[in-house]
Amino acid sequence: MPARSARLLLGAPIAAEIRQAVAEDVASYRERVGRAPALAVVIIGRDAPSMVYLRQILKGCEKAGIDGRLVEIGDDASEKAVVEAIAALNADPTVTGIIVQMPLPPAIRLRAVVDAIDPAKDIDGIHPLNAGLLRLGYDGFLPATAHAAVEILRRSGIEIEGRRATVVGRSAVVGMPAAFLLVRENATVTVCHSRTRDLRHHVKDAEILVVAAGHAGLITGDMLRRGVVVVDVGINVVDGNVVGDVDFESARSVASAITPVPGGVGPLTNALLLAHLVRAAQAQEANAAASGGGFGTCRAGSIRGTSARRPAASRGVP
Ligand code: NAD
Repeated sequence: MPARSARLLLGAPIAAEIRQAVAEDVASYRERVGRAPALAVVIIGRDAPSMVYLRQILKGCEKAGIDGRLVEIGDDASEKAVVEAIAALNADPTVTGIIVQMPLPPAIRLRAVVDAIDPAKDIDGIHPLNAGLLRLGYDGFLPATAHAAVEILRRSGIEIEGRRATVVGRSAVVGMPAAFLLVRENATVTVCHSRTRDLRHHVKDAEILVVAAGHAGLITGDMLRRGVVVVDVGINVVDGNVVGDVDFESARSVASAITPVPGGVGPLTNALLLAHLVRAAQAQEANAAASGGGFGTCRAGSIRGTSARRPAASRGVP
């Protein structure tokens, strides 16, 4: 009998839907406001490995009618200069959202940069205020990758409520926000990390497994519970190929569904970032209106978890 093969959870079709909604929202924003929402992409040195990712984001902006602006700072810039550049973007009313290339050069402290971003323009959810809102169950801006890891489950019709979910990785930008989002979706969540004693046990227990560790092949099929749903967030380059943290071939015959790498979480991350930008634009528009008028119709920005305003009570979070 041939081995069963897991359903593939593909990011591209979901991302296309989101991009379409973003483009429509951007067009109507332009009509109302007279200019496009703008995303400032701050880079410190052009040699950064993340340049490829940032270029993809700028291309996505162009396609959606968003004004993508590359803000280049020399790689010998001081921390003060970087913070000042971010302050100037905060003060510029034509700048809607700000993202900063990571990792930063060693001379520049992450905390200084993170704190400098206006939370209302922090569309990748790295500012402590947005992290705190997520922790408390309110909607701030979510880190796009963590959002994508959970959104791909929701939009693929995977049941989350009541299921045992294990997240491998506890970083501030991926693992922890993904864990909080899963709790918010009423999963029972375990978080594993580099000091976890028996990773295999916690992985075997999972009905939903989210892996964001940055180690190719960390999770193999023999570690999985039959029928588990696997979301592989990892991006690693092995022998010139991009692979995830999960050994895809051995996992796909045990899992019921799995995100491929590439092609799973990645495409959704970029689309959601643009959706967050639309949400920021609409929130800023509403704040600017002296009457405090409504948001108007927003389809892209209304994706669960992107609203900067909806209180936890409306989602029934205990
Ligand atoms: P990170 O290095 O900040 O965090 C890795 C986490 O994994 C840590 O919390 C660490 O404790 C844990 N970990 C490491 N080794 C482990 C082990 N052997 N067992 C259990 N836990 C272990 O990385 P990050 O920024 O959270 O990124 C994680 C992965 O996600 C990376 O591969 C990164 O490239 C990828 N990523 C993907 C996207 C996307 O859009 N798909 C975006 C950002 C990051």
